[in-house]
Amino acid sequence: GIPTASTDEGKPRQRKRIGILTSGGDSSGMNAAVRSITRVALQRGCVPFAIYEGYQGLVDGGNYIKRLGWEDVRSLLAVGGTSIGTARCADFRTREGRLKAVYNLITNGIDALVVIGGDGSLTGADMLRAEWKGLVDELVALGKIKEDECQHLREDLTIVGMVGSIDNDMSSTDITIGAVTSLHRICEAVDNLTSTALSHQRAFVVEVMGRHCGWLGLMAGIAVGADWVFLPERPPPLDDARYGDDWETEMCDTIKKYRSRGNRKSLVIVCEGAIDRQLNPIKADYVQKVLTERLHLDTRVTCLGHVQRGGTPCAYDRFLATVQGVEAVEAVLRSKPGVPAPMIGISHNKITAVPLMEAVQLTHAVGEAIKKKDFARAMELRDPSFTAIYDAFLETTIFSQGKNQPGPDGQRLRIGIIHTGAPAGGMNAATRTVARLCLNRGHVPIGIRNGFSGLIRDEVALLKWNDTVGWQVRGGSELGTNRDHPQPLPGGPKIAPKGDGEFVDLGLIAYHMQKHDIQALLIVGGFEAYTAQLTLTHARSVFPAFCIPMIQLPATVSNNVPGTDYSIGSDTALNAIVEACDRIKLSANASRKRVFVVEVQGGNCGYLATLGGLTTGATTVYIPEEGVNIDKLQSDIRHLCKRYTEEDRWGIPNEGRVILRSEMASSTYTTDVISNILRAEGKGLFDSRTAVLGHLQQGGVPSPLDRIRATHLAVNCVNWLEKAAAAAGEALAHTPVAGASSVYTKQPSHSCIIGIVGAETVYTPVEDILKEADVKARRGKDQWWMGFNRLIRVLSKYEYSADVV
Ligand code: ATP
Repeated sequence: GIPTASTDEGKPRQRKRIGILTSGGDSSGMNAAVRSITRVALQRGCVPFAIYEGYQGLVDGGNYIKRLGWEDVRSLLAVGGTSIGTARCADFRTREGRLKAVYNLITNGIDALVVIGGDGSLTGADMLRAEWKGLVDELVALGKIKEDECQHLREDLTIVGMVGSIDNDMSSTDITIGAVTSLHRICEAVDNLTSTALSHQRAFVVEVMGRHCGWLGLMAGIAVGADWVFLPERPPPLDDARYGDDWETEMCDTIKKYRSRGNRKSLVIVCEGAIDRQLNPIKADYVQKVLTERLHLDTRVTCLGHVQRGGTPCAYDRFLATVQGVEAVEAVLRSKPGVPAPMIGISHNKITAVPLMEAVQLTHAVGEAIKKKDFARAMELRDPSFTAIYDAFLETTIFSQGKNQPGPDGQRLRIGIIHTGAPAGGMNAATRTVARLCLNRGHVPIGIRNGFSGLIRDEVALLKWNDTVGWQVRGGSELGTNRDHPQPLPGGPKIAPKGDGEFVDLGLIAYHMQKHDIQALLIVGGFEAYTAQLTLTHARSVFPAFCIPMIQLPATVSNNVPGTDYSIGSDTALNAIVEACDRIKLSANASRKRVFVVEVQGGNCGYLATLGGLTTGATTVYIPEEGVNIDKLQSDIRHLCKRYTEEDRWGIPNEGRVILRSEMASSTYTTDVISNILRAEGKGLFDSRTAVLGHLQQGGVPSPLDRIRATHLAVNCVNWLEKAAAAAGEALAHTPVAGASSVYTKQPSHSCIIGIVGAETVYTPVEDILKEADVKARRGKDQWWMGFNRLIRVLSKYEYSADVV
């Protein structure tokens, strides 16, 4: 629900007075939530209040409770931590403290409270609501408030919870505000440690936060390529039949194995709350002692501590906090007495509102399962991807975890891996995962270098375990990629190579695939990869070499591949845009009165501009799906003039502003043209400049989310290829095909794109994707993020009813 300025279907507007507080440990993105709640509340005709210093401010009242205006939350998106302060408040745990809190709420007329914090903070909020009526009665009986003062507030206090926590330890939501930023900080630190570890052949034991939840440890382990992780939910050893309780020997055996394969560094991640099977804590210092004494490794401990909390929020946390803030205000307006307080979460990429106390209780159930040593249950209680990622970690980290056994049909496959199109963050992580999984399962991973033109030059090599060391943190494409494209058969898809790409003869591709006996193919890339696979699939009638299972792993900064919500590389690009725009905004703010028109990539797809606009607080965005016209420009100019005039009138320092323009939004209204028009029409009220971000957006080091998504998708690609090959083999046994190898399939369902849709992993045949794709414009027809343009306008005060200042 994106808010509207109009009243709800003719019903009178509810003018709720909403207190906002942040509580417990701070997390990055709390500020973005406060900004979003404040602005949407104002836009919905409500009155927002900041309650400073968490529950302490609520108990102390006075200056700790202040009305918030539109301008009070400006520039907050990029600021880490929480600007309204947080605290751990002992007073609030007592009834006496809560009585004071109720007094302060009533005297300020606040009838709704949005609490952003962890499970403790949300429990406190629910307790306040449960005791509300009794506490109000007590205040009346004590004569502290008059009966008629609190009439409309007597029955109920509206409570809405939002989860700000870096640990991602709350049940009933897939991810909490701040967790991904924290992962960014961990990955940056460990990536840096890795270079010194490699130089000195050292071992590093890194302690990360997570008292009860191993999410940070596990995701960091995957993202940085750790050799071992210690989590609270899944104590070692992994192979208890062989090692009993002796995890020390298991860990040393594993690390010794890597070292013997030529690995120059060892990396172990220990969560704060890591335990062994008898629930004894496992501490970083002890792990260091074991590695030093048993393996004689030069081992250092790094405890990342509070650096993990801080810093500017990453794109994902800004996005999450902003859209959850909208839902929090909607939940306030929807709330009714007697209905349990909601907690705003995210599930399957959709913003949800779930009963708050049920979520808190489920969260505690994990701790109880651990106490009972029921570790399987503890893993189960985490969100569904947790176990899948854990398994992926084991299979890509620990050689022969898969016992070198091939997949379900027992067949060893020769799996070709090719990159095509422009490079994107995560391509290397995906390739490393596929290669290692293949080796673990007894398949043969065949790396095809330099795309389809490389294939026909025989630039093909078997990938060994150590070939891919360090690949998950590397940007670009280690295999090499280009825009050369298989030339479609007459009657095939109508495609021309893009940019400097050239057509590659299909017969030659088929010949070389046969020569290397490629029995299954993984294509990593963006829209080119899709049309390339479509071309090969169409040509199955002529070339038996293409009658094999094929799957595309979407990898492109533009996020324009149909059939998936996200392609790998798009998160890295979005973070590059956010970082650049933060800097540009600073410069624009400093010179006052300056509007930057920032050109971003994305081809014909406005994803980067839209999500970039939402996460950097752009005034508006221009995207190819909507185009640019005079009407839109005029309305934007009017809006800018109004905003700068208001700022002058109210004596507010003029704000620098950014507008994001997708590179192909319009061939007439180019970035320069728009900027020139703005400058001319600003008539001195504001000035305009341009910034073209270009290839910087392809990012250096891939973002943690891209590395994790790449790993997760790559595992599923290998599973899918195994199953498809098994099905093809079975079909072949029933109906032999002359001259066919052991894998032969022409089934459309055996040429798919893997995608992330919500939290599901889906496989769509490339031919079916045609219905969803606009091949000419190179993008999907329906795009989940299109509605956010409206929210960008709401948050930049386009749609604002002037009756509340
Ligand atoms: P984090 O994830 O950082 O630990 P949290 O919200 O769980 O965040 P807590 O320290 O547990 O952090 O709680 C923050 C504050 O919420 C407490 O200091 C206290 O004021 C209030 N609070 C927590 N639990 C309760 C409770 N059971 N009753 C009343 N208030 C509570």
